[in-house]
Amino acid sequence: MEERNETPINSNPYWWNAAPIPVGLDKVPNQADVLIVGSGITAMSAAITLLRNGRKVTVIDQNKIGSGASRRNAGYVSRSFKHSFADLEKKHGLEYAIKLHRELDESVKSVQEFVDTYHLDCELKFLGRLMPAPNSKHFQSLEQDLAKQKHHLGFEYQMLDKSELQTELATDSYYGAALIPDLGGIHPGKYHAELLKVALSLGLEVCEEVKALEICSAGETKQVNTTKGIISAKELILATNGYTDLLFPWLRRRIIPFDAYMIATEDLPNQLAQKIIPHNRVVIDTSHNPLFVRQSPDGKSILLGGLTATKQASSEEKGHHLAKILKRLLPDLEGASIAHSWTGKCSGTFDLYPHAGQHEGIYYSLGYCFVGVPMGTYLGKKLALNLLGKNEGKTLFFNRKFPTIPFYKENPWFLSTVFKYYDHLDKGTPAYDFAY
Ligand SMILES: Cc1cc2nc3c(=O)[nH]c(=O)nc-3n(C[C@H](O)[C@H](O)[C@H](O)COP(=O)(O)OP(=O)(O)OC[C@H]3O[C@@H](n4cnc5c(N)ncnc54)[C@H](O)[C@@H]3O)c2cc1C
Repeated sequence: MEERNETPINSNPYWWNAAPIPVGLDKVPNQADVLIVGSGITAMSAAITLLRNGRKVTVIDQNKIGSGASRRNAGYVSRSFKHSFADLEKKHGLEYAIKLHRELDESVKSVQEFVDTYHLDCELKFLGRLMPAPNSKHFQSLEQDLAKQKHHLGFEYQMLDKSELQTELATDSYYGAALIPDLGGIHPGKYHAELLKVALSLGLEVCEEVKALEICSAGETKQVNTTKGIISAKELILATNGYTDLLFPWLRRRIIPFDAYMIATEDLPNQLAQKIIPHNRVVIDTSHNPLFVRQSPDGKSILLGGLTATKQASSEEKGHHLAKILKRLLPDLEGASIAHSWTGKCSGTFDLYPHAGQHEGIYYSLGYCFVGVPMGTYLGKKLALNLLGKNEGKTLFFNRKFPTIPFYKENPWFLSTVFKYYDHLDKGTPAYDFAY
């Protein structure tokens, strides 16, 4: 029988304990220099860059400031990409594959740079990313990809057999793993809170619970109709990622939103979290729809994510489902209660690339395919530099062809089929077998 919690599960993210959602401004101005729709990492990174370059910036969000995915994610900071190095090399040539991976690495470094430049207190630690593989096929293809990255870019990695893996993660559910020593994690709530603090200190104006309804004019002056009146702005940036709506239909047709889910245990006794992940790596397995697990930054609890893009359910229900997976994956947690179960929206794209750019005079940066912590930071800044007309804004991800498919407007009718296919491929892995 399914084990039930004695205490009710909190549907707010674990991260909000240390980084509560702030209260913004109630009124909106009718004029802005640069107006940003969305108030997550992308918006903050762009805003800080613009403010430092003398521009005035107003951020609006339909909800509370920072309450999108930026304060809901797992906090992994990685240079992972949906296309393997070999695939990129085959399709675009070696030089391109190297260039793109260098930029992915730059995106990780951009997080470190913000943290160092502004002395952000957000528990950024590069203690290693552990990637358990459920079988020898996954293990070998992971090794091949990492070997290429090491050869061409010098990115370090180490392959671990099952017994070595068990010194890293208290489970016998995997065949082996790769360890990438220079990647890690952050406290996403604190990261966003600190970025917001910097932006406010530079003069950012933030307006919460203001939904942008329509772009009335995208000419020299952009006019945006919102739930609290019309705002005219010289420049308009859309930083709405998984929450992108029909405000700019061209963009919405290119974005595939999906839900991601996480849980956090209550504080665990007797250094249990350290026993489970002794070297405090951030862990993500190699399934098509992966499980990801990490210690909380204070080392007191364990967080797990999975069941991405599965049918929506109450946070209580999802929490129990994820708890079942957690306890099968990590049997030491058998008696643990779940304190938080939450969800957030991510977005993918049809070519599985993140995209930043300008279309019909409107700037955008989104479609991060689950790496929005580094990519939102990196492309938010790049986007702002482009807006400022600066050469440093150059990136492979700016204004590249942004595909869609015929008849797709808003409803991602194909998503359940794609994830069913992933399920099919994942049969025999913990991500599938422990879930169903
Ligand atoms: C559970 C989960 C785990 C994840 N784990 C990781 C991870 O470990 N590492 C990683 O790199 N990435 C991860 N991600 C993805 C990452 O969180 C996102 O890619 C990133 O936060 C996107 O930031 P953003 O600023 O672009 O958008 P968001 O932070 O999502 O903000 C978008 C905002 O736009 C607002 N908005 C949308 N439309 C309108 C409108 N019309 N008017 C006004 N406001 C509007 C929304 O209200 C929202 O607040 C995860 C995501 C989730 C949900």
